[in-house]
Amino acid sequence: MTPTLHQLNSADPAEAMRLLDGLYEHSPWIAEQALAQRPFASLAALKHAMVTVLAHASVDAQLTLIRAHPELAGKAMVSQSLTAESTHEQTKAGLTNCTPEEFAHIQQLNAQYNAKFGFPFILAVRGPRGTGLAKREIIATFERRLGNPVDFERAECLRNIHRIAEIRLNDKFGFEPVLGNEVWDWHEDLSRHSDPAFAEQGQLTVTYLTDAHRACAADLVVRMRECGFDEVDIDAVGNVVGRYHGATPDAPTLLTGSHFDTVRNGGKYDGRLGIFVPMACVKQLHAAGRRLPFAIEVVGFSEEEGQRYKATFLGSGALTGHFNPTWLDQQDADGVTMRAAMLHAGLPATLEAIGALRRDPSKYLGFVEVHIEQGPVLNEMDLPLGVVTSINASVRYLCEAIGMASHAGTTPMNRRRDAASAVAELALHAEQRAAADGDSVATIGMLQVPGGSINVVPGRCLFSLDLRAPSNAQRDALERDILAQLLAICERRGIGLKTEETMRAAAAPSAPAWQARWETAVNALGVPLHRMPSGAGHDAMKLHEVMPQAMLFVRGLNSGISHNPLESTTSDDIELCVRAFSHLLEQLATEHKH
Ligand SMILES: [Zn+2]
Repeated sequence: MTPTLHQLNSADPAEAMRLLDGLYEHSPWIAEQALAQRPFASLAALKHAMVTVLAHASVDAQLTLIRAHPELAGKAMVSQSLTAESTHEQTKAGLTNCTPEEFAHIQQLNAQYNAKFGFPFILAVRGPRGTGLAKREIIATFERRLGNPVDFERAECLRNIHRIAEIRLNDKFGFEPVLGNEVWDWHEDLSRHSDPAFAEQGQLTVTYLTDAHRACAADLVVRMRECGFDEVDIDAVGNVVGRYHGATPDAPTLLTGSHFDTVRNGGKYDGRLGIFVPMACVKQLHAAGRRLPFAIEVVGFSEEEGQRYKATFLGSGALTGHFNPTWLDQQDADGVTMRAAMLHAGLPATLEAIGALRRDPSKYLGFVEVHIEQGPVLNEMDLPLGVVTSINASVRYLCEAIGMASHAGTTPMNRRRDAASAVAELALHAEQRAAADGDSVATIGMLQVPGGSINVVPGRCLFSLDLRAPSNAQRDALERDILAQLLAICERRGIGLKTEETMRAAAAPSAPAWQARWETAVNALGVPLHRMPSGAGHDAMKLHEVMPQAMLFVRGLNSGISHNPLESTTSDDIELCVRAFSHLLEQLATEHKH
């Protein structure tokens, strides 16, 4: 019979140990120490207790645990001496029926990996959905991880061990992340649309108003109707808007959503998670025939990434009345104006129609957005959710350092006016200055010597500066110091300088009451609370200009990598996110009950 969490909480120690048997390979001490923290509020709380035990264990104990695992498709598999759990997992991943070539390749990877790291390669082969990774994904992951530094890879093995334990625990307690699985599948399904040149290479790229983009919008419309939204439309800038009515016609509205466009060769979850999670909540409300004392408006924003046109945040900006009229005449790389693209998509392409999208903030309670973290913090801390405190302020510059191009052989070092070396000096300073704040970041992402030659001292250097910090004041101080240093470096080296500010965005601190609702929701799930700033810009930044907002982050796998096809998250984490969103809805419903 499947045990319950209540049974685990009230069992005697021997019985409790029996219930958690085999979670961590040949290492019952992890469950044993975690059980000292009973009672657990949820399976998520139990998982985190075990994560904490291992995090506090010595490196030796961690290595012993890693080494207790069998090699992937290794000798233990061949001689059938694996634990029952491991046999089941490796069979499910198709590793027991490798071709001789695949088998030989994996053996070679095992040998290389062991030689470099001194422990076996560990991968949760049942993957982020729990249904099993394909053999080719397993081999690609193996090859990629061989390049990691040793300490990082040890931590990555431990994360995979926790994922294996999470799936084993789910199996034991008969828990299936049904909502998370469904939302995970929606992402997979929507990712079948991609712009042609990228689709051919199996990459995901959906840019503003392309055929793939319009196919995504059409899919979202269908999916929203299936979920039970009362009104679903595509608006004048191509946003997909679903409304689920409140209990009364005059009820206020909660606004939520995120974007469905992608960067080139992007991930499946960036933006889309923030559309699908509230859709899953509405689906549950509709299935239960429930109406809340407020309406829910979920918007799939058509454009956030600024890929096809330089019109970042076009979708959310239209709701705040920030559509720039000159954008309509802007051309894409093929010379197609935005106006033409809109007309082709059946949109009116008039400023009147776009202007009419502006929302009246007095009708709205506020804006919330769920988003994949797009960074390594939650992954590294082994936490599924993070509550956002503020979206960082940012400023960007395009700069040019002008020195003197001269002969690399004949110009003595003390007579040079080397533009690239000046920028190199700045780069190191910017790195140290941002690091000193702890939570500021500074990046020189573009660095070019136009027309440079191997035997010429660089006469010009073009570079970019991207500076971000959690508050405007901190960003301003960072900017002041880095620009002052830039001037000093250029002056000392006899270098001329041109700087052009290309973007400046204010910090968007979360509204305290809304941040508190996310925190209450996370606590209610038994998941440890972690507050963090958002280094990336999000649609919430635009809505912040007209109404209170707060965001919730979900952990990404592979160090939280994003804007990359390796972007990934588990259906267990998505499940927690859907539940957190539902909890926030329930809190609001209680607050607005008359
Ligand atoms: Zn995004």
